[in-house]
Amino acid sequence: MTPETKMETKATCPYCGVGCGVLIEHDGARITGVRGDPEHPANFGRLCTKGSTLHLTARPETRLQFPELRDTKGEARRRVGWDEAIDVAARRFADVINEHGPDAVAFYISGQLLTEDYYVFNKLMKGLIGSNNVDTNSRLCMSSAVAAYKQTLGADAPPCSYEDFALTDCLLIAGANPAYAHPIAFRRIEDAKAARPDMKIIVVDPRRTDTAAMADLHLAILPGTDIWLYNAMLNVLLWEGQVDQAFVRAHTEGFDALRDHVREITPAVAAEICGVKADDIRTAARWWGEAPAAMSLWCQGLNQSVHGTHNGAALIALSLATGKIGKPGSGPFSMTGQPNAMGGREVGGMANLLSGHRDLANPEHRAEVARLWGVDSVPEKPGLTAIELFDAMHEGRIKALWVACTNPAQSLPEQERVREALARCDFVVMQDAYRSTETAPFADLLLPASTWGEKEGTVTNSERRISHVHRALPPLGEARADWRIVCDFALALGPRIGRNDAARLFPYASPEEIFAEHAATTRGRDLDIAGLSYALLDAHGPQQWPFPEGATVADATARTRLYADGRFPTADGRARFVVPTGRLTAERADARFPLRMTTGRLRDQWHGMSRTGKVARLYNHVDEARIELNADDMATRGIRSGELVRVKSRRGEVVLRAAASDEIRSGQAFVAMHWGANTLNSAGANALTLREFDPYSKQPELKHATVQVEKAELP
Ligand code: SF4
Repeated sequence: MTPETKMETKATCPYCGVGCGVLIEHDGARITGVRGDPEHPANFGRLCTKGSTLHLTARPETRLQFPELRDTKGEARRRVGWDEAIDVAARRFADVINEHGPDAVAFYISGQLLTEDYYVFNKLMKGLIGSNNVDTNSRLCMSSAVAAYKQTLGADAPPCSYEDFALTDCLLIAGANPAYAHPIAFRRIEDAKAARPDMKIIVVDPRRTDTAAMADLHLAILPGTDIWLYNAMLNVLLWEGQVDQAFVRAHTEGFDALRDHVREITPAVAAEICGVKADDIRTAARWWGEAPAAMSLWCQGLNQSVHGTHNGAALIALSLATGKIGKPGSGPFSMTGQPNAMGGREVGGMANLLSGHRDLANPEHRAEVARLWGVDSVPEKPGLTAIELFDAMHEGRIKALWVACTNPAQSLPEQERVREALARCDFVVMQDAYRSTETAPFADLLLPASTWGEKEGTVTNSERRISHVHRALPPLGEARADWRIVCDFALALGPRIGRNDAARLFPYASPEEIFAEHAATTRGRDLDIAGLSYALLDAHGPQQWPFPEGATVADATARTRLYADGRFPTADGRARFVVPTGRLTAERADARFPLRMTTGRLRDQWHGMSRTGKVARLYNHVDEARIELNADDMATRGIRSGELVRVKSRRGEVVLRAAASDEIRSGQAFVAMHWGANTLNSAGANALTLREFDPYSKQPELKHATVQVEKAELP
């Protein structure tokens, strides 16, 4: 490649919710490198270890390059053409729909998809097929944060931005390890602390993570006790006169009930429940109360809980009670795990949502979406959420499943049950860029999708910022863009289920046309982006929502500081305090399963490792699946670091290498979520986790399961 043939294409990193801008270096035929986009406001040119090795993941031999089909379970799949693949998919889905009804089919999709892909999947299921059975792996990621925002602030609109890290005086990081999971956001936090050493950083996490290690105060609470900690902080704020009574009176509802609830939750009471010092709880509350600007940052540690919604609501209550919201450096900020979980929420790509942050349960919202799409109605019956969907499949009620860009046979809890469900499903389609996922063996039809570097569309990152992602190269082999596959399927399916309007509903020739329709559906909503277009994003770079028609880039700062006027998108304009309910954890440790296992991410791996697992240098940090244990627990069991151990829960078992860790206290254990089929016995952490979920968000408690550990006697 000569310097003249070197080209750069603007895209975003397809890993985490920070949404860093990347410049893909290529020669028109091959991706040769990647560098951070210095103009992107999420990262200003920086990339972490995962982002900076993206070009090394572009390996053709790992890709699914043409459709493969089998007629009978257990047979080897054979290569087929796209026409046959789409025809068979449409026939098999139509047969199920016509015989068993539309609720016998389901889509299980992904926060890795671009917004345009998400939009057409959603429209196909809810507007053409006539079911709401479309859910996503984002259910495992941020659905509790969505529910918490809606219950308290009235809309799923995280009000903060990354620039707030540099403006806050107190940052409370709760159930998150951005040093590993959101590294470039963490760099910005480190920069803020370096520039203003008086800024207080509080980290709440059962483990002493790299994030906790840099905190001014680390509250190593026992798993599942989050609500009691935040309620006790509110107790202190009340007792010490740090509640902003004027803000509470003018802009909120329900404070008296929460005040009565937390009256008895003193620091001493919470200290007992949470396993931390009462004085440390007082210190955290004082730092929050005395700081001119205070913000919280949370992620899966709060969300993946049987009371994930109320974890978030209890944290948000601290912002509302002190009036520290809608101001620079203040507010509750949930990070999304995935690169486009936020975009999926915007198009309503979940079983309980509709386009433009509308609610399926709201008849007016259903009527609005039906009118916008030009269909008679959107079905009223709630769709099946992730765990419910696989339960229904296990029971034989879902007979055809379409999986796109995700790997449920690795990532859902109670893996044995999930794999049984997949094996029982009459017809499974897997649309993916990679062929060697744990889900692939269950697929009757594999459809090759284009991937990072080959796709155009938009993504929205954790700070509500929409980026236009460009395509550097054509799709590999016969792979096609995800939105194109969905539209081709819709056109083939429609006439077979008596819907001759499929061509009118799916007329798109480009992702830009889909984006324009999506933007129009948001008009007048809290996330109004009717003023955005690909052309504007190209001319002015990524933009935060809202961006209504007539808005300008110049007025962004004032427009995107949500709730600055103290008005919230509820019926009366007031935010709500929520009195929390719920048990500590679904499972309690006992004599048989005495260790409390949490799960989480490693710095250099991503999800089920379909990309990062292909890059040798990303194993330098941690090179195999392992269980981290406190040295005391290892000594009690006669286990030494490096030995193989058998880890059992009530649902399954897995063999892992033991590693002593001083990051966790006795009685706890940690297993990274990434490994699956590549562990010693082809099972990862989710062989052990359980499917119990939050009643509002339906997000499962992936952060806690009780286990026993013993030396492995291998055959
Ligand atoms: Fe990619 Fe996240 Fe790293 Fe940014 S911080 S480069 S988005 S993995």
